[in-house]
Amino acid sequence: MPEQPQLPGMPDRLVVATPSRLGAFADCPRRYRYAYLDRPTPPKGPPWGHNSLGASVHTALRNWYEVPPAQRDPRVVPTLLKATWVREGYRDLPQEREVWRRALGWLESYLPALPAEPLGVERVVAARTSVMAFHGRADRIDAGPDGELVIVDYKTGRAVPDQDDARASPALSLYAFAAGLVFRRACRRVELHHLPTGTVAAAELTEAAIARQVQRAEATATDIRAAERAVAAGTDPDQAFPTAPGPRCGWCDFRRSCPAGRAVPGKEPWAGLR
Ligand code: SF4
Repeated sequence: MPEQPQLPGMPDRLVVATPSRLGAFADCPRRYRYAYLDRPTPPKGPPWGHNSLGASVHTALRNWYEVPPAQRDPRVVPTLLKATWVREGYRDLPQEREVWRRALGWLESYLPALPAEPLGVERVVAARTSVMAFHGRADRIDAGPDGELVIVDYKTGRAVPDQDDARASPALSLYAFAAGLVFRRACRRVELHHLPTGTVAAAELTEAAIARQVQRAEATATDIRAAERAVAAGTDPDQAFPTAPGPRCGWCDFRRSCPAGRAVPGKEPWAGLR
C-alpha cells in the first residue's frame, strides 16, 4: 500500500484521479485495490475481445491524424487498422476477421465526420483541486463554431448512448472541467460518438452540472484516501477495500483473484462482441 505517513501540519496529499481510477473505486473498492494498489498486481484476465476492438479503433482514429493531410484518403484506413489491430480475445480466426471487417466499415463511414485539424487528439488534460490531481486523456477535443471547446469520446460497444448518457457521464464532465482550464476556454459541449451506428449523443453542460461532477469525484477521492489511510493505520485491507459483487463481476479483470467474484460465472472473452 503506497500511503505515506502524514506529518503534523502538512497539507493533505492530493489523490491521483483519473476517470478509470474513480470509476473503479465507485464500482467496487476491491477492484480499485487490485488494479492500483496491490503489488505485484494480481493476475488479470482474460483479454477481452471488445477491449481489443475498442483499442484498435481508437488507435486507428488517433493515427489518422499522423498521416500527412494531403495523404488522408479512405484508402489508407485498412492499413491504419491493420497496423493497430489487437488480436486478443476473439473466439477464433473467422470471428476475428468478421469483427475486423465490421471495424473497417465503421471507420470508413465515420471518416467524413472527422474534422481536418482538431485542437487535440488523445490529448491529456489535467486539473488540481484541493483534494485531487485529476488527469485524463480525451479522445478528441474540437473547436465548436462559437470557438468553445467540444469534448468527443468514441464509443464502440453494443449500447447506443443517448443525450442523458452524455449529460450524466462523470468522465466527460471532468474532461470538460480540465480542458477548460488547460485551454483557458469555455468547454460545455460533450459528445459521445458511437461508431457502430454513426450516432452522436451530445449534451450542453452547465457550469453547475460540471461543478457537481467535480464534487462527486472529490468525494470519491476522499474515500480512496480514507481507505488507504485506514490500511496504513492497521485496518485489514480486505475490510478497507470491500468487495461489491454483482453482475459486473462476470466482466471483471480480477474475478479469478477475488473471493466474491469467483462465485459469479465469468463471461467468455468474446461475449461483448455479440
Ligand atoms: S470480481 Fe466483483 S467483487 Fe471482485 S473485485 Fe471484481 S467487481 Fe469487485
